[in-house]
Amino acid sequence: MTTTSSPAPIGIISALRDELSAVLLRMPPESRQRIANRSFRQCHWHGQQVVAVLSRIGKVAAATTATAMIERYGVRAIVFTGVAGGLGEGVQVGDLVVARSFLQHDLNASPLFARHEVPLYGLTRFRTDTPLSDTLAAAARQALSEPVGLLGAQAMQDFGLHTPQVHEGLILSGDQFINTAQDSVRLVAELPDALAVEMEGAAVAQVCHDYGVPFAAMRTISDRADDNAHVDFPRFTEQVASHYSAAVLDTLLAQLPA
Ligand code: SAH
Repeated sequence: MTTTSSPAPIGIISALRDELSAVLLRMPPESRQRIANRSFRQCHWHGQQVVAVLSRIGKVAAATTATAMIERYGVRAIVFTGVAGGLGEGVQVGDLVVARSFLQHDLNASPLFARHEVPLYGLTRFRTDTPLSDTLAAAARQALSEPVGLLGAQAMQDFGLHTPQVHEGLILSGDQFINTAQDSVRLVAELPDALAVEMEGAAVAQVCHDYGVPFAAMRTISDRADDNAHVDFPRFTEQVASHYSAAVLDTLLAQLPA
């Protein structure tokens, strides 16, 4: 007997409600399921089956969420979207970073293993999926070329934003909100090619590596990971980052094969 089955869904994960608020407006849920104390919403977007969930903050929460999503929905890819602190020179508030690899900056099993190496994986960095990240970066450039249309002139002015630059490269993750210049300077000294720092991506990258699920991630820079990092964080996340996420995902999902 042959059965026809619809293609596996695309998974979308964010840590915080504010990060996903504009995205959720575009995807009224067709069904909801509570798994591992998280609400998974399913819908169609540009003909794609999509499942979206909030992980909450930190590497363990993110790993649990990604694992549940893969096991229960058999997603064919995961895209993470959220905010991060800028580390790299020229990575400014309002810019976007598309991850090409992730590293856990707080992982240290030396001298048993090299600094930052994930024990028994022989890896310090987990690469994101190249074709999916290429498409995501192209979607980001396309969707964000006219930010005034997305945010409105007032919000652009309030947050001092210009046209967002799209950067691509290494993102650091750790169970720490980096909010002193001392900590961000130390991270850049240890890992000079790091563009941004957040608290979930490397965990999802490791889970996706284990399951062989393609993974891509984008982060809007909400702060410079320094002594002003907490300023206006929720307002920026909701009024800027979530609109960038919605616009980029809209463009991405229109381009992926259904
Ligand atoms: N103010 C928030 C807490 C945010 S924690 C609240 O009250 O709920 C920071 C979240 O944004 C994490 O999910 C992390 O991935 C990301 N992030 C943004 N800037 C960061 C920074 N400077 N250091 C670490 N994570 C950061």
